[in-house]
Amino acid sequence: MANKLLVEAIRKGTVIDHIPAGQGIKILKQLHLVDGNEKITVGFNLPSQEIGLKDLIKVENRLFTESEANELSLFAPSATINVIDNYVVKDKFTMSTPDALEGVFDCPNSNCISLHEPVTSYFKVTKKHESIYLKCKYCEKTFSKEIVAGL
Ligand SMILES: [Zn+2]
Repeated sequence: MANKLLVEAIRKGTVIDHIPAGQGIKILKQLHLVDGNEKITVGFNLPSQEIGLKDLIKVENRLFTESEANELSLFAPSATINVIDNYVVKDKFTMSTPDALEGVFDCPNSNCISLHEPVTSYFKVTKKHESIYLKCKYCEKTFSKEIVAGL
């Protein structure tokens, strides 16, 4: 009930819901949400029927680009994004782990040609034992998502 109120209290913007508890702070940092001037409301460790405890982020007057949504899906694959307009949920979608990420992160390998040539970074995304790994198309090295995202 309290969560529903939080969602409804926003006039226009985006609500990221069902973020696994503890990931919310990483998402704020990763998507540089606090660098802007938009009003942001966060809830950490909120009770959730689906996932136990969850984090929630509300960003007013802000929509997410496709590449931001892709980044988000790495950290919170179970999250739902609610697009709010005039207090109404206009659009609601669930994240899923992408098969590949293009142009989102630089390769952590300083010798990688993708850093020195005018090419777009490209990682193939794989999941092993609940951890997510990214394999660079150019140097063919595999990194954990935390390394690639610089966390
Ligand atoms: Zn590389």
